[in-house]
Amino acid sequence: MGRLKPNSFAYYRPNSVASALQCLATQPDAKILAGGQSLVPAMNFRLSRPACLIDINGIEALAHVEVCADKVVLGALVHHQQIHEHPSIRQHFPVLAEAAGEIGHLAIRNRGTLGGSLVHADPASELPAAMVALRAVMEVAGVDGTRRIPAAEFFVGWMTTALDTGEMLVSVHVPLSSSSVYGFAEFARRPGDFAYVGAFVERAANESGAVTWFGVSDKPEYRPMSALPRDAAARQAEWQQLAAKLEVLDEPRMRRKLAVVLAERAYQKVEEAKIG
Ligand SMILES: Cc1cc2nc3c(=O)[nH]c(=O)nc-3n(C[C@H](O)[C@H](O)[C@H](O)COP(=O)(O)OP(=O)(O)OC[C@H]3O[C@@H](n4cnc5c(N)ncnc54)[C@H](O)[C@@H]3O)c2cc1C
Repeated sequence: MGRLKPNSFAYYRPNSVASALQCLATQPDAKILAGGQSLVPAMNFRLSRPACLIDINGIEALAHVEVCADKVVLGALVHHQQIHEHPSIRQHFPVLAEAAGEIGHLAIRNRGTLGGSLVHADPASELPAAMVALRAVMEVAGVDGTRRIPAAEFFVGWMTTALDTGEMLVSVHVPLSSSSVYGFAEFARRPGDFAYVGAFVERAANESGAVTWFGVSDKPEYRPMSALPRDAAARQAEWQQLAAKLEVLDEPRMRRKLAVVLAERAYQKVEEAKIG
């Protein structure tokens, strides 16, 4: 067995976004270090060999949760467990808090960050799909300024995002919606494992809806529905039709079957939430 040690690397710990961006622009082959829960194992296995790490954990401006009139802004350094426990997130986006609680184990949730999860863009991750389902907008920064990217355009493929070289994710803007109710369900082989397949379902006040699946293809799959059927048989047919058209990673029969089952379980949570 090979050594579980990373290559040697330079290490910087800036205390502002501007200095982090300056480091990114000037250091060749540099990577941001957030919670380290994906990057450090990849470095130890030498799957990733950055020449320089820019540790953003000292940048307080990235660690906020701010409730505004029409949205909640989450800093890139907000930890998974904070998302799970934060009273404002539980109040406004219970489905996001629930999904964050399914990530790995407590030790991972205490260190892993929202920004790290979104930029890592593992297709089996909860948070990228949650952000697509909630129609969040990513705020990214580079030395030339900031830009905003809708979550549905941020995830472009297998562990690939729309971030350009030299850019970092600074925050995520999640719009407040009083007219939609969401449900979430996932299946993992063991507690704490990555999900095999998961689903978020939305029902809007006008009876339209949407399903966002993860773990089925190389990125979250959002499917709007002009009408989300109340009738169970019609709904089942709708899930089946949508799942049949998914471009599935592998094990297509199993993943499509789970996509249907989990969409329905997520829908049942929507019904429970409405009653509650
Ligand atoms: C045993 C185990 C189980 C896990 N289970 C799950 C699970 O069930 N579901 C799940 O979703 N995840 C799971 N994870 C992954 C976990 O959620 C990680 O925390 C997450 O994927 C990465 O977040 P991080 O903050 O640790 O990022 P890091 O590991 O520090 O970084 C990950 C990548 O993102 C980049 N990056 C980080 N922050 C930024 C930023 N602000 N701007 C630009 N680039 C940035 C880094 O350069 C790196 O390329 C698991 C991890 C482990 C070790």
